[in-house]
Amino acid sequence: MSDSSTEPPDTTKPTHPCPEEITRKLEDFIKNSLGGQVVFSRIEPHNLGSSPEESDSSDSSPAEETPDVSFEFSYKPTDIKAYLDRFVIRQDEAKKVLATAVCDHYNHARMLREHAAQNTQSTLEFSKQNVIIIGPTGVGKTYLVKHIADLIGVPFVKADATKFSETGYVGGDVDDLIRDLVAKANGNVTLAEHGIIYLDEIDKLATGGEGRGGRDVSGRGVQTALLKLMEETEVPLYASNDFRSQMKMMFDMRQGRSGREVINTRNILFIVSGAFSGLEKIIEKRQSKASIGFGAAIQEKPASEELLRQARTKDFIDYGFEAEFIGRLPVRVFCEALTADDLFQIMKHSEGSLIRQYEREFHAYGVKAVFEDDALRSVATIAAEEKTGARGLVTAWEKVLRDFKFELPSLGLPDLIVDGELVKDTARALERCRFDAQSLKTDVRADDVRAFASRFEAEHGLSLVFDVAAIHAVVQRAEREGSSIETLCQRLFKDYSFGLQLVSRSSGQTVFHLTPEVVDQPDRFLSELVVNSYRQTENPVSANHGS
Ligand code: ADP
Repeated sequence: MSDSSTEPPDTTKPTHPCPEEITRKLEDFIKNSLGGQVVFSRIEPHNLGSSPEESDSSDSSPAEETPDVSFEFSYKPTDIKAYLDRFVIRQDEAKKVLATAVCDHYNHARMLREHAAQNTQSTLEFSKQNVIIIGPTGVGKTYLVKHIADLIGVPFVKADATKFSETGYVGGDVDDLIRDLVAKANGNVTLAEHGIIYLDEIDKLATGGEGRGGRDVSGRGVQTALLKLMEETEVPLYASNDFRSQMKMMFDMRQGRSGREVINTRNILFIVSGAFSGLEKIIEKRQSKASIGFGAAIQEKPASEELLRQARTKDFIDYGFEAEFIGRLPVRVFCEALTADDLFQIMKHSEGSLIRQYEREFHAYGVKAVFEDDALRSVATIAAEEKTGARGLVTAWEKVLRDFKFELPSLGLPDLIVDGELVKDTARALERCRFDAQSLKTDVRADDVRAFASRFEAEHGLSLVFDVAAIHAVVQRAEREGSSIETLCQRLFKDYSFGLQLVSRSSGQTVFHLTPEVVDQPDRFLSELVVNSYRQTENPVSANHGS
């Protein structure tokens, strides 16, 4: 175990005032500027945990404190994978490997705790399961790790490796990552000691290895600093060179917060990732060297993704990593690039789909937005061309929806049907919305159709979204048949409560877009929906939610 506190002082580093000195200076400053109106009670370190009466009641709020409780873990790899499946599309291999590594890690942590509690002389061997994820941007690497942390209830900190410098004076200090975990855990140090640190762009720490320029020597320094954390070390809870951290220490002392001064990194799980462009060339070179002399037939060149899967420790070293550093990352996993179909599936099926976010945003203005599959497919194709994974979806949708988000809240339309036509020609679709809004304003009977849909939703929990053309179709049909809107709707949709409940139960769909064709042939539409939803239950890949 390496302990930073035992190292000889570095005389080249600037000296920083000690906490007591800062407290004294602050006290002087406050007295001088406020003319002695403020009583500044000095808290000495040995007063930690003092009774509430002794500390300033105005800044002591026990409700904010999180007790330093121990961390329990009882998941199995399949539980974690099943949870990830709800949010993350594809990346099955990464889900399995991560789920297993996380379970191994936290089970070991528990065993170590139990072992220590038994006070036995023997030591328990434990090799940490830190993970390296290789994969392009926007394919769910962070998303996977964040959801694992959410599920198991540990704090999670993400940072780009590029922001750190060796000394911490220019860029960030790697120890700050550990302190950030404590902040994320609301000061619960024990929980922070079981947190997850995720470092992206780790490939940028490679130092001038083969086939790439690499970062200067400071990359090596950061690798060494990280190496210590990944292994086991104790990090001061309050950074000595950071004024804010020292202030925090003072306030924590004043509030009588826990007496812990260091955080042990033994049980913190490190997950690092990067695109590692150029690594495939190194792997290819190694493989072609190995085949020379064996008279191997010329094989077809494997794709770069396939090559990256075959990365070995030596390849990472040749790429510019220290052997010790890469050796601390025994679990290696690959995340694949996402196709346009994957992006469609993400929008359609991920519980975190940004389509739900857009629906909520329109809903805030009383507009029910319905996203049709053809719109999702078109946007998926546009986004895939950006080659930024699922991030491209946000850019593509922003462009499509920009004017609608601006104008629709004021138009007074009850719904927005986002279909392939709208994506293709947004200006025309917006013009149509304006026209529809005008025509609805002049037709009071449209309100009766909407009133029917509202009652249906209140009674059955299912939304019937009549588009503007469908509303006109109902109004015209009522006129033709000489009945009231209410009577006509009751008759046309008499089987809908039962039928749509069936659909909803098997497919999860709760919003149903009704067109003029549905008004013409309501029973046919319903029976098609029922049949499709059952088919999709048998073949969940094409299952349909929400539109
Ligand atoms: P990176 O691989 O660069 O870490 P992220 O995980 O941050 O990418 O992905 C950005 C966003 O894109 C996520 O917040 C999530 O909404 C979405 N996303 C990316 N990949 C997937 C995926 N495989 N399944 C579902 N959503 C995804």
